[in-house]
Amino acid sequence: MIKADGYASLEQVISKFPREEVLIKPKAIIECYQEIPCNPCETSCPFNAIVIGEDINSIPQIDFDKCTGCGMCVFSCPGLAIMVAQVKGDNVWYKIPYELLPIPKVGEIWNAVNRKGEVICEARIEGVLRNKSTDRTTVITVSVPKKHLYEFVTVRKPL
Ligand code: SF4
Ligand code: SF4
Repeated sequence: MIKADGYASLEQVISKFPREEVLIKPKAIIECYQEIPCNPCETSCPFNAIVIGEDINSIPQIDFDKCTGCGMCVFSCPGLAIMVAQVKGDNVWYKIPYELLPIPKVGEIWNAVNRKGEVICEARIEGVLRNKSTDRTTVITVSVPKKHLYEFVTVRKPL
């Protein structure tokens, strides 16, 4: 539980994902668990897939049927709470915001990390995007084995 130990439980994480079959197409996973006055995810989505509604403190709700996985919400979220996930064969490809240095390079193998900050496996850097289209936020695409679907959250450069 977030309030008890600072990170989401497995049940909380799974509650934010669609059924695995749905992830053959890219879908935004919104890990926003607490009621806070924030809504750039809602206003940035060109497909109206995210709804917060009149009360800006409400937790965002996503319509996976409308989400195209475009990634606009990923770099628009100030809380770095959104990633896009897609199952491709035995791997999952994630599009995540990355605000640390150094910025990874395509083809590098970094460590995949879980919500406790533990290394869970290797992650291949598949793409790096940072330009006007991402509002200067670095968005990286990484692939990890599918068995880590609900564990992966970010990458860390190997020592
Ligand atoms: S990935 Fe694109 S379509 Fe999906 S919720 Fe985010 S902004 Fe909307
Ligand atoms: S923009 Fe990010 S932090 Fe703000 S409500 Fe949306 S998901 Fe939560």
